[in-house]
Amino acid sequence: MVRTPYGRVLANRVALATNAFPSLVKRHRLYTVPVYDYALMTEPLTDEQLASIGWRNRQGFSDAANQFHYVRLSTDNRILWGGYDTLYHYRGRVRAEHDQRPETFATLARHFFRTFPQLEGLRFTHAWGGAIDTCTRFSAFFDTTHRGRVAFAAGFTGLGVGATRFGAEVMLDLLAGERTERTQLEMVRRKPLPFPPEPVRWAGIQATRWSLARADENSGRRNLWLKTLDRLGLGFGS
Ligand SMILES: Cc1cc2nc3c(=O)[nH]c(=O)nc-3n(C[C@H](O)[C@H](O)[C@H](O)COP(=O)(O)OP(=O)(O)OC[C@H]3O[C@@H](n4cnc5c(N)ncnc54)[C@H](O)[C@@H]3O)c2cc1C
Repeated sequence: MVRTPYGRVLANRVALATNAFPSLVKRHRLYTVPVYDYALMTEPLTDEQLASIGWRNRQGFSDAANQFHYVRLSTDNRILWGGYDTLYHYRGRVRAEHDQRPETFATLARHFFRTFPQLEGLRFTHAWGGAIDTCTRFSAFFDTTHRGRVAFAAGFTGLGVGATRFGAEVMLDLLAGERTERTQLEMVRRKPLPFPPEPVRWAGIQATRWSLARADENSGRRNLWLKTLDRLGLGFGS
């Protein structure tokens, strides 16, 4: 039963898609941590500014670092510039005040002008962040509880705009109790490794962030910690 300002909704099958917020099913909370990701948006570029960077076909792109930036051009020719600096707060706190982080915005702005020196002086009109539902294998996972009447999907790890549609279809298959091509996928049948409890969780995430930053500074060379995670099938290499 869901209580809303408009009344109660009763259903005997439920798809839970609560993203980085704590799952209503307690055991699922071990599988995701909220990691904050941030983005900037510029004012609209003039035709001359756009021509100066030679971005002709409006592609979205990202760089190939571990701590990568993602970049898009909006329909009104603003540049969305995000990523790089991700942040985990001890005990996985999700708070509205974490949505703004001036240090990260300053880092992103510095990287922006290093990439597009021709745009020096361009203003950023928007800056924001939000929590992403990170799981140890960096791709969505699924589960059912209450004898198949509750389905759950999460763990999109910041790549959910397209993938959550697939996630919803998987949940509908699971709730219908149907054996489909989707429900037979290994990524649907198997769950990622859970995160350890705090403070080991916090230490592990900090060690991983530090190691990824070092790898980026050393031509991608991975240290012992990252190689161990790779061997265990954790992270983007999973
Ligand atoms: C800064 C930033 C940049 C991103 N960039 C990209 C990108 O470039 N490409 C990409 O693919 N993805 C990106 N993502 C991730 C993407 O936005 C998410 O993966 C996707 O929006 C998740 O969709 P969802 O439906 O799972 O969750 P949401 O859209 O967050 O919906 C979850 C809903 O559940 C509600 N909810 C939670 N708990 C409860 C509860 N207990 N009771 C009632 N309601 C509840 C919430 O209020 C919310 O409305 C980005 C995320 C951030 C923060």
